[in-house]
Amino acid sequence: MDYDVVIIGGGPAGLTAAIYASRARLKTLLIESYSVTCQAVTTDHIENYPGFPEGINGFELIEKFKKQAEKFGAEFLVSEVKGIKENEAHSGLSLGRNTEPRFIVSGRMYKPTWEILTDDKSYTSRAVIIASGARPKRLDIPGEDKFRGKGVSYCGTCDGALFKNKEVVVAGGGDTALEEAIFLTRFAKKVTVIHRRSTLRGTKILQEKAFGNKKIEFIWDSVISEILGGTKVSVLKVKNVKTGIEKDLSCDGVFIFVGYTPNTAFLKDLLPLDQSGYIIADDNCLTSKAGIFACGDCRKKLLRQVVTACGDGATAAFACQHFLET
Ligand code: NAP
Repeated sequence: MDYDVVIIGGGPAGLTAAIYASRARLKTLLIESYSVTCQAVTTDHIENYPGFPEGINGFELIEKFKKQAEKFGAEFLVSEVKGIKENEAHSGLSLGRNTEPRFIVSGRMYKPTWEILTDDKSYTSRAVIIASGARPKRLDIPGEDKFRGKGVSYCGTCDGALFKNKEVVVAGGGDTALEEAIFLTRFAKKVTVIHRRSTLRGTKILQEKAFGNKKIEFIWDSVISEILGGTKVSVLKVKNVKTGIEKDLSCDGVFIFVGYTPNTAFLKDLLPLDQSGYIIADDNCLTSKAGIFACGDCRKKLLRQVVTACGDGATAAFACQHFLET
C-alpha cells in the first residue's frame, strides 16, 4: 500500500483529519484540489471559531492548520481526484460485504483496500477520508454565466476590492450573504441585499450587524430573474415573488450567496448520497463502505461550520485509526 490513509480535501475537516491521522503515526496523504478552494479560505473574518475572540482571517486559520498537519508528518499533493475504486488485488475478499453487523465476514473484519484515481496517477490506501467540501450554488438565471468575472461573483473576499465606491447587490438571506454583505461595505458605497422571503435565515447577531449598517439596504420577497449589461453588469431584473412585478435595478456587481452544493459527483457510483448529493455517514463518520469515512461539509449533517468540520475531521481520523488497528 502507498498509504494508510488518503484524505481528499484541504479544508478544516481534511486538515484536522490529517493532524489526527499523522499524530496516530498513520502514513497520511492529503490531496487538495486545484480547482476548488475551501470556503474558509475565502472568508475574511471568522468570529465564531473558539480561541480567537477578536476573530481570525480564514486564510490565516487554514495556514495554521496546514502547518500543524505538516509538523506531524502528513504529506500533501495538489491534484484532482476523479474517483475511488476497490483495489482489485483484494476483490476475492469482498464476498459477504454489507452483512450484519457491518463489515464482519465469517467472524473476521472485512477490510478492502482502495485505489484513489487522480488526474495523472493512482494511489493505493488502506483507508480513505473524504473531506471534499461544498461549492457555491448558482442562481441559474440568464446572464449569470455571461457576466461571471465581469460583475458576477461568488466570493466577496476575492472580488470585493474591485467595487470601491460602487453599488453592489447580494443575493441570499443566510449567514454567508449577511457576512459578505457586511464585508462588502468596506469597499462599496451601497450594498443591496435581495432576499426571496421577508425574514432572513442568517443568525441573529449577523442580522443585527447588517440592519445596523447604514450602507446596507434590503429588498424583500424578491429574486433576481436576469443579469444584464454591456461588457460588465449594469442592470438586474428583480421580481417580487408576491406581486409578480418586475423592476430594473442598476448596479455595478452582483454577489451570489444562495447556499452550497457538495463536491461529491466523483462518488456517485461508490457511496450512497442524499437527494442533495451529501454523503451519508454514521456518527463516527463511517460510510457504507468499510474503510471509507466522510467528514465536514460534504457529509449530511445539521450544522456546517469550521468548528463542526474540525470535530468531524478528528472523529473520522480516530475512527479510521481504530478501524485499521482492530
Ligand atoms: P444557506 O444557509 O443555505 O442560505 C442560503 C440562502 O439563500 C437562504 O436565505 C435561501 O433562502 C437563499 N436561496 C437559496 N436558493 C435561492 C435561490 N435560488 N434564489 C434566491 N435565494 C435563494 O447558505 P449559506 O448562507 O451559504 O450558509 C451555509 C451554511 O454555512 C449554513 O449552515 C450557515 O450557518 C453556515 N455559515 C455560517 C457562518 C457563520 O457562522 N459565521 C458564515 C457563513 C456560513 P431561504 O432562506 O428562503 O431558504
